[in-house]
Amino acid sequence: MPAEFVKALPILQKIRNSGYEAYFVGGSVRDVLLNRRIHDVDIATSAHPAETKQIFEHTIDIGIEHGTVLVLEKGGEYEVTTFRTEDVYVDYRRPSHVNFVRKLSEDLLRRDFTINAFALADDGEVIDLYGGLADLEARILRAVGNPTERFNEDALRIMRGLRFAAILNFDLESTTFASMKEHAHLLSKISIERIFIELDKLLIADFWQKGFRELLAIEAYPYLPGFSDRTALGNLLTLSSDFKFTTAVQAWGYLAHQLGYSDGKFLLKKWKVSREFSTAVSKFLTAYDKRLKGDFSPEDLYNLGKSSLTLVEEMFAAQNLETNFEQISALDAQLQIRNKKEIAVPAGQIMTEFGIQPGPQIGQLFHQIELEIVKGHLQNTPQHIFDYVKKTLGELKFHK
Ligand code: ATP
Ligand code: MG
Repeated sequence: MPAEFVKALPILQKIRNSGYEAYFVGGSVRDVLLNRRIHDVDIATSAHPAETKQIFEHTIDIGIEHGTVLVLEKGGEYEVTTFRTEDVYVDYRRPSHVNFVRKLSEDLLRRDFTINAFALADDGEVIDLYGGLADLEARILRAVGNPTERFNEDALRIMRGLRFAAILNFDLESTTFASMKEHAHLLSKISIERIFIELDKLLIADFWQKGFRELLAIEAYPYLPGFSDRTALGNLLTLSSDFKFTTAVQAWGYLAHQLGYSDGKFLLKKWKVSREFSTAVSKFLTAYDKRLKGDFSPEDLYNLGKSSLTLVEEMFAAQNLETNFEQISALDAQLQIRNKKEIAVPAGQIMTEFGIQPGPQIGQLFHQIELEIVKGHLQNTPQHIFDYVKKTLGELKFHK
């Protein structure tokens, strides 16, 4: 048993000593069986939330209506969730009501895929009621029980399935695949934020090409905002087979580019992502456009940042196009400033020194100084800047 589970064993034992059942469940059990690193340890119990709260001294109600209590014990935090079934999924999103049940088998039955439906007991026994071990062995994603029911209950499971295929390099079992395809249209009922989380994880996964190929194969893309162009999406699969996206910005930026967006904001607005993310994607797209027209300039590096430029260059490499990583490094080494604040003389000082009044003139002049420094035409020292201002103001007077 890995350290994370060993550390949490006293929680299971305490619950059992109080007369209830308790198991490790969910993705962490799957990941342990696959020898993958685990992140969150989930615990399921037959104890109802109020009963769990009586067992432990320190608990926080984090989702009591769904049966989840956060247990704080010995410096650790553990989500302890009551065995439950989820009946009547109104509007295909969330169960309108969860029922607490006392039987583990019922709880495992409501889970999405067989490899996510294990329970691990404190003695190390793996409880596998739905054939998950065989599916792990065969590297197959199979819906628990009846796939039609599973995807009808919650269509997000379709995206989760694609995401797990991309992370684990697993195949979709054929009935599950057919059912995902049949129910793909239900994705239009799912909140876009939840779909984004899954697609985002899919794209930056090691086997993203597998997940993405399945996304096209089950014809889920028409239900994803802005994704109707099958040919454009298919182009992603012509990238080198060993290529992995470095960041989500790169993945979404390249997707937006393929889909014909010159500004990522139009696409990402539909996906309701954060403003920071959308801005970063837009920078990537601007950089991509510049690069298509020729080499990067010092202003490109200054305005868009080294990371955007490098992400673009990596995409060129992925398409077996000629790359220019050295040029970016050279530009970076030559760049004297990274932002306005690094200019050796502040605007205020130039105003005092040369008696310039507040207004558009100083703004323009300072911007000109910034640009000259970025281009490497002007050295970023007080002396050079003062000389430059003197010369420029002299020329202005002369022209008047
Ligand atoms: P990850 O490694 O991303 O955390 P996970 O399998 O642990 O993957 P979680 O979203 O953390 O996924 O959910 C924990 C468990 O809860 C899953 O393993 C699965 O058993 C169940 N689960 C989560 N979401 C759903 C869902 N939409 N439908 C059915 N079961 C679900
Ligand atoms: Mg998890």
